[in-house]
Amino acid sequence: MSKNIPNSTTPQHSTPLSSSTWRNFSTTCMICDHRHPNRLAHMVTRTTPQIIIGISWVKVRVGIYYMICVYGNELADQLAKAATRNSDIAVSFNRIPTSTLYSELKEADIQKWHTDWDKCTKAAITKEFFPNVRDRLKMNISINPNFTAMVTGHGRTRAYLHRFRLIDNATCPCNKEDQTVDHLIHQCTLLHTNRELLKENIQQSGNWPASKQELITKHLKSFLIFTNSINFDEL
Ligand SMILES: [Zn+2]
Repeated sequence: MSKNIPNSTTPQHSTPLSSSTWRNFSTTCMICDHRHPNRLAHMVTRTTPQIIIGISWVKVRVGIYYMICVYGNELADQLAKAATRNSDIAVSFNRIPTSTLYSELKEADIQKWHTDWDKCTKAAITKEFFPNVRDRLKMNISINPNFTAMVTGHGRTRAYLHRFRLIDNATCPCNKEDQTVDHLIHQCTLLHTNRELLKENIQQSGNWPASKQELITKHLKSFLIFTNSINFDEL
């Protein structure tokens, strides 16, 4: 396709897109709506904040293509249709391979996600397990309700249920302290056998106690066995 794609009449990028392009998204959007780049970028980011990116070359007439670079399938469709209807839009792009755009945007995407995650003041327990977005994306974790409850602190622990007034008391049936995630991993006497197996597995390749991050990054299989062994209905 690239040999048929004409050079830009108003070049915006002479080199592959850098990470700063993410912040200057209106420049990229200019390609499909050069008259109102800021408005388009604003619409895109306001409408679909999710991190879904679509890039494609749309052939609008012989020898002329527009690059569509948008978020979200629905919006992508709208913009693609708008681009093909507007025959007076000037061509404005360079010979940047689509694969390079995907790679650059994916990298910027991950960085932005990580920055947002880092700044987030919520999800404190989950951030202890998953402090790094990039590391999380490399993992293929088969989640289940027990695992989710443990890495979020939501849903099944008595501390969580009491916090939302769903039960009267946050104290664990072992009577040692409130039933938090840390309590279940490290203190609960009712999980002594489960914990001994976890410790035994972890000590084959690491040290106990392990941090929450280590439980995920180094001992995921053992931690999954532990979380799956917890019978929350009896705790
Ligand atoms: Zn307990």
